Amino acid sequence: MPTRYIPTIGLEVHVQLKTRSKMFCSCAVEYGAEPNSNTCPVCLGYPGAMPVMNRQALEMTALSGLMLGCRVPDICKFDRKNYFYPDMPKNYQITQFDEPICVGGGVPLHDFAYPKDAQKTIAQPGKVVQLVRIHLEEDVAKSTHFEASSGIDFNRAGTPLMEIVSEPDLCSPEEAFAYLTSLQQILVYGGVSDADMEKGQLRCDCNVSVRPEGQAELGTKIEIKNMNSISGVRRALAYEIERQMAALDRGETLVQSTRRWDDASGQTFQMRVKESSHDYRYFPEPDLLPVDTRVFMDAVRSRRPELPGEKRDRFVKDFGVTEYDANVLASESALADYFDAAAKGSKKPKAIANWVINDLLSALGAAGKTIGESPVAADALDELVGLIEAGQISGKQGKEVFAAMFETGARAGQVVEERGLKQESDTGALEALCLQAIEANPKAVAEYRAGKMQSINFLKGQVMKLSQGKANPGVVGEILAAKLAS
Ligand SMILES: [Zn+2]
Repeated sequence: MPTRYIPTIGLEVHVQLKTRSKMFCSCAVEYGAEPNSNTCPVCLGYPGAMPVMNRQALEMTALSGLMLGCRVPDICKFDRKNYFYPDMPKNYQITQFDEPICVGGGVPLHDFAYPKDAQKTIAQPGKVVQLVRIHLEEDVAKSTHFEASSGIDFNRAGTPLMEIVSEPDLCSPEEAFAYLTSLQQILVYGGVSDADMEKGQLRCDCNVSVRPEGQAELGTKIEIKNMNSISGVRRALAYEIERQMAALDRGETLVQSTRRWDDASGQTFQMRVKESSHDYRYFPEPDLLPVDTRVFMDAVRSRRPELPGEKRDRFVKDFGVTEYDANVLASESALADYFDAAAKGSKKPKAIANWVINDLLSALGAAGKTIGESPVAADALDELVGLIEAGQISGKQGKEVFAAMFETGARAGQVVEERGLKQESDTGALEALCLQAIEANPKAVAEYRAGKMQSINFLKGQVMKLSQGKANPGVVGEILAAKLAS
């Protein structure tokens, strides 16, 4: 019988914080600035330059910890990690070693965070991936290698970097995908990072091993470095797990090593073998005092937002929308705010959700606009839903009105008025049309009275025609049924 293997995955995620200035100096943090334009002696690593802590970075990291259920100890401190960095001239990095700012916590994996094709086969619904810690450090400069030379950009050097370390608690590439999706969503909600992987604002290293079923000890850990897309992480892990299992099946021994993922060929390649674990000679950073987090924790607690999961639950409970709809609506905080504003006070919040998801989002997508740029205001949508519910316009007319609202920014009532779309619900006027239809179609009337109930639909159609499509079909149906029964 072939051996069955259990994969074990741990993720280290580096997140660029959205601070105005760098971690230990006042240089601006700016994406896409002219290379080496945001530098000073501190972030260039000049000897003797003194670091000064960025309070905003500390607070954002503590807020991330609060959102992820971490413990924030009263005291944390910074340490020097000694290492030769070609892109860090002072040859040490200021980071946190044994007293990080956040400890423990977890990332919830909700169903919709999984890849679409894997949402029906979730191994552990409601799983929360445990975290080891979150610490704060400075980023290094960015090297670019040209054909015959290399360039280095110090704009990134010294920018605040938050490292989120998970326990080896993930069991599949799909869970890793859900972990990153959920984490990204929470960080963006908290405003601590834009967490855009393509811009390098969220970078991920994956540790992955496999072990034969029944073996308690974890297999040989192999690291895949610097992943830059969530779907890439899923593909790389799937490939790597297969590769390791096949190697073990062939009787090979795996060695602890670092690999890189090549998205084009869909394979991982060995970069280096880890011969021994590095000794970084950590010691407390002598130029910085330990941090007393109690100084800012009250302020940080007051900034904790309602999280995506909490919003989803509230939308289902308060507005009666489906889990799926709640997930779409809560996927982005600006969209959730829009829906909240539109649904608040509405008699039909579920109808509002349908308009937002089916019509507004696709119209915005086609126009290349964000929800913040929506020409249809949140309360205008409720007005449109109200007109349909009251039977003043039909659902079909509603689509036309919505298109006009999106086009011109006009209110629903105004569009209905201008286009003469108002549905005829006046019973007197409709009764006359119904009688007219009954008189003109004796055959259908006879059939209906003989028990062929669907003949009423034919008569209804005739009335709609007579009214030029403006009659309220519900009211017409009621009148016809009453007339034909008498
Ligand atoms: Zn600087």
